[in-house]
Amino acid sequence: MNLDLSAYRECRLCPRNCGVDRTAGRKGVCGETAVCRIAHAGPHFGEEPSFSGTRGSGTIFFSGCSSHCFFCQNRQISGENSGREYPPDELPALAEEVLAQAVHNLNFVTPDHFWPHAAALCRELRLRGVEVPFLYNCSGYQLPALIPAVAELMDIFLPDFKFADAELARRCMGAADYPDIAFAALKRMVTEKGFLYPWDPSGRRTAARGVLVRHLVLPGQVENSLAVLDRLHREFGSDLPLSVMSQYRPMPACEGRGEFARGVTREEYERVCDRVGELGFWRVYMQELTPETAFLPDFRRPEPFAGNRKPA
Ligand code: SF4
Repeated sequence: MNLDLSAYRECRLCPRNCGVDRTAGRKGVCGETAVCRIAHAGPHFGEEPSFSGTRGSGTIFFSGCSSHCFFCQNRQISGENSGREYPPDELPALAEEVLAQAVHNLNFVTPDHFWPHAAALCRELRLRGVEVPFLYNCSGYQLPALIPAVAELMDIFLPDFKFADAELARRCMGAADYPDIAFAALKRMVTEKGFLYPWDPSGRRTAARGVLVRHLVLPGQVENSLAVLDRLHREFGSDLPLSVMSQYRPMPACEGRGEFARGVTREEYERVCDRVGELGFWRVYMQELTPETAFLPDFRRPEPFAGNRKPA
């Protein structure tokens, strides 16, 4: 695999702009050196039907994260950096093992801080004749200037848009610039790839390219969610594909942090869904609001997601 490590030397791969030499073993906010680490790889059936389809989405969960939201639902990999090191030459075999399970796509989960590795892997797999769509599944906190290069290799962007409220972003992830940076990155993604296509929420025709935006509704933060929707609507109109998620669960780090220590109420989620309808968004995934935690991962298990089963 043809891997160029130079971007890790004074790492500015994400808006944290740490400037550390990861090739010398230093770590920035993402908590990762230049040695690629992966927490889990395998078919995943808990993504939206456009990605999971009937045969699953081929997820590769990269360890570490540059966002560091204190409420992160994947804290074992984002905050505790669990995972195993992979020498570059082992990455294609790992991806091919996942692809051999007939998944619909290869889903790079939080790959931005390992972009040189992810990019080299994409190139290598295409050289080997892999044709499934490549999916860039990210926090939204991306360098806008990097998006065109990412779009050359990835077919689908699946960014979060977490915060429209700068003060909330500062409180949750220490980055008051999240709303503006994530929005600028999202605009580049849509310019590069357009909206998700084809749109088939039944999952019979899985997505081939384009952008779908995810938003996780947070407890006590309905106004933030409404502002997110308004901002997305103003820029992109009601055709923008959305996934409005209710699956927030309080993590141990949420204790003592006010409303973050509880779940999202039905009333809160419904207020957000009502605004989705009022704004005329129609390509929308919504979730049942249940106490279900089947897709709350435990990356210490070989299969981290207890509910991860192929649909009958
Ligand atoms: S990728 Fe990591 S080290 Fe590089 S700028 Fe972002 S947080 Fe800092």
